[in-house]
Amino acid sequence: MSLAKSLKFKFMKDYGAPALLTFQNFKKRKPRPIPEAFGPPLKANQRLKEILTRHYFLSRYVPGVKKVAWVTSGAPVELLRAFDFYTIYPENHSALVGAKKQGADYCGIAESDGFSQDLCSYARIDLGHMLSGKTPAGKLPKPDLLFCSNNICQTVLYWYKAIAHELDIPLIHFDAPFVTTQQTEADVRYMAQQLQDMIPVLERISGKIFYLDDLEVILKRSMESSQTWGTILKEMQAKPAPMTIFDAFGHLAPIVSLRGLPVAEDYYHILLEEVQDRVARGIGAITEERYRLIWDNIAIWYKVRYLATFFAERKMNFVSATYTNAWAETTGYLDVKDPWNSMAKTYGQIILNNNLKHRLDLMKSMINDYGVHGMVMHSTRSCKPYSVGQFDLRKALNTELDLPAVILDADIADERVWSEQQIQTRLEAFCETLEDQVSAT
Ligand code: SF4
Repeated sequence: MSLAKSLKFKFMKDYGAPALLTFQNFKKRKPRPIPEAFGPPLKANQRLKEILTRHYFLSRYVPGVKKVAWVTSGAPVELLRAFDFYTIYPENHSALVGAKKQGADYCGIAESDGFSQDLCSYARIDLGHMLSGKTPAGKLPKPDLLFCSNNICQTVLYWYKAIAHELDIPLIHFDAPFVTTQQTEADVRYMAQQLQDMIPVLERISGKIFYLDDLEVILKRSMESSQTWGTILKEMQAKPAPMTIFDAFGHLAPIVSLRGLPVAEDYYHILLEEVQDRVARGIGAITEERYRLIWDNIAIWYKVRYLATFFAERKMNFVSATYTNAWAETTGYLDVKDPWNSMAKTYGQIILNNNLKHRLDLMKSMINDYGVHGMVMHSTRSCKPYSVGQFDLRKALNTELDLPAVILDADIADERVWSEQQIQTRLEAFCETLEDQVSAT
């Protein structure tokens, strides 16, 4: 570790980052007018922006001070935090690129280098970033370590292997057996052992000694943040719901990428307080909430605003999503007294590593708990594990619950996979069916 770099990092943390945030607030453009269909925006939006800006800003000064790890969203990051890695989430960065409608540009760079257009756009954007150095975040630090888990998909393993090869850095893979019916004890033992076997490797890469006490503190924080996130989502059972799922897509960022850190824990307390206050005062995310919807799959990052407005203008609010729920669903298994097995249970059973029956049962209980009238399923070209089975799920939900549902063909971050006319036609037809069905009941 270099003393000069450490001092610079500390200076940037204490003075540079606050000055940047003050400057950004000062030069902030006049806020875009909010369509009448929406209620007042959440005050926590500002804090969220500050946290993420600070995180990416400080990442530029981290090399030489802390070891940097690039991590997949479903990997048990708590273990890395015990070695004080500075973590970057390429999926989160790709979503940011997608939201800025720059996904096609980055994907194009990866495709020109020979990567298939059929590869997940998060991967192509990240590879495009690696090949070109481009990023809307200013600059991302080169990783010292890659840490992935196939509990979300197999793509991440090959994607991270390509980066490890290109940058000549180590890759740790946490292998999570797919839950075909139920997670077995053998699966738990296998995953728990892998985690413990990682310790000497992580000690060598980080140059730090592992202390179980540190891991326990981090796990406790992670658990509390996830539980608070789960409580925030449950507040959306209120009528009207205090935020939309399009808000939640944004507020998900800290639980994905800063999980286990005090900043995430503090942030969700702030958000929870605001959301509960809105529920108590009857403030809804949209001005008139007549219909309540559930979203399936990852967001269409470059069309969040379009979709939010389309539905709000029709008095329809998304009050739940399988995607946002994923970071609250299994963290109840975390147990500081049994860290290895509990991490195996938590990370081995997440929605994308679980069978379709599990997903159907989960959807049915969410539809029931949140008083949902209809479902929008995003069939995303990028994410095969999330999109395969949606037709069967739609059929089952329609048969068992008489729930109208529409499937939208699009992509998470590659805006070339979007046909406005086709989407608009499908959505209009869906809204008509939904309105007819609700008014008939
Ligand atoms: S979007 Fe799907 S395919 Fe892409 S990295 Fe995430 S889980 Fe894997």
